[in-house]
Amino acid sequence: MLSRFRKLVERTVIGESVPSLVRWGKYVPRALIEGIQRDSFCELVRYAAERQAFFGRKLRESGIVANRVRRPEDLGDIFTTPEDLRNLPAEDFLCREPQLVFETTGTSGGPKRVYFNYEELEFTARYEAAAMWENGVRPGDRVVCTFDAGYWISGWVTFLACKRMGVFCSATGKPHPRELYSRMPIYKYNVIAADPTWLVSLSEIAEKEGVFPLKLIVAAGDRMTEVYRNYVERVWNCPVVLGYGSTEQGGGTAMECLRREGYHLDEFNYFIEIVDPDSEGYGELVVTTLSRRTMPLIRYRVRDVTRFINEPCPCGATIRRMAKIRGRVDEMVVMGAGNMYPEIFERVLHDVEGISENWQVAVRQEGVHDILDFRLELTNGTNPSTVENAVRKNLEARYPDVWANQLCGMYQLEFRIFPPGELTQGRKPRRLVDERKG
Ligand SMILES: [Zn+2]
Repeated sequence: MLSRFRKLVERTVIGESVPSLVRWGKYVPRALIEGIQRDSFCELVRYAAERQAFFGRKLRESGIVANRVRRPEDLGDIFTTPEDLRNLPAEDFLCREPQLVFETTGTSGGPKRVYFNYEELEFTARYEAAAMWENGVRPGDRVVCTFDAGYWISGWVTFLACKRMGVFCSATGKPHPRELYSRMPIYKYNVIAADPTWLVSLSEIAEKEGVFPLKLIVAAGDRMTEVYRNYVERVWNCPVVLGYGSTEQGGGTAMECLRREGYHLDEFNYFIEIVDPDSEGYGELVVTTLSRRTMPLIRYRVRDVTRFINEPCPCGATIRRMAKIRGRVDEMVVMGAGNMYPEIFERVLHDVEGISENWQVAVRQEGVHDILDFRLELTNGTNPSTVENAVRKNLEARYPDVWANQLCGMYQLEFRIFPPGELTQGRKPRRLVDERKG
């Protein structure tokens, strides 16, 4: 299932063990990584051109000859979108008989279904094992993984990664944090892999009732704000590293190292592009699954916004990093302040004293002017003008460009204070809303 060149490297240089894969992933020269990527990409394009109805059709419509494709850009505007996966029959994407299916739910429409075979799942797990090994997980550790079960992939991949390392693992689905807490002393877990909000709930129990010694916490990172992370790290006195991936991407695409300064990308199994980047390099993440053959995705538009971090990481790994996810493409609001994402306001508001967790920023329009409208709840009778000044100061210090646009009159700031509880939203609060008409 891999390119000939890559197979040769796997057989002669890497071998079977996880530590050897870690060494390989850390020290391989970039030129070699890029060679493997190009090679794997060309092979996948030729493979899918013959076997994947969807991709074959796209090539024909665009008049592109598979054998001439060398790089993703050569495919022009051929992409695979979440809507394609949701709306077209599975047969359009399947290149061979599958053995497994996972689903992923979105905020709108039905589920997306992604098929694999057993070998692909084990193969993905091997790379997740390498990432966990690099972060210090070893035989003798005890991992509990509480990612949602059901039709989701992540728990299975973590379970198989532990199997690969020979590490004790309970993959439990998502129990109530209280249930897991009561089992922690029985099973002596010292590594937890879980979702951010679940981790916060578990940590709240532990803060009151006592902690157990932990070595590492791995969190599915796309919704882990720095406020949550700092809190969980403080309670357990243990590093929280973030992983990034999804069911469509076939599990983990990237994981932080212990420096926690961006995700290291699995460049051996994914060709990553950032399309339509803005002046800071932020654009939409587009992923090609290089190693899958049951249902490969070519240039899949993930709809998450991020950028590459091109500077080498102090940890020494040669695989590239990407920044934390800034938001969803559909959450971006283009306005007088610039391209706004919810993450910007999380960073501006998280350490402002006297406001509750319930806040929302709306973009409104008055006449021909954009208004950035901060809607906040005061918690302990703090003077509204003190809060307002703190927000202005944070915005100026942390986003000087956004601030400068305000000074130029491209938008105005407004603050509205609400009684406690008034701004409460559901499980996934909408932090940034566009209320402009037309
Ligand atoms: Zn690193």
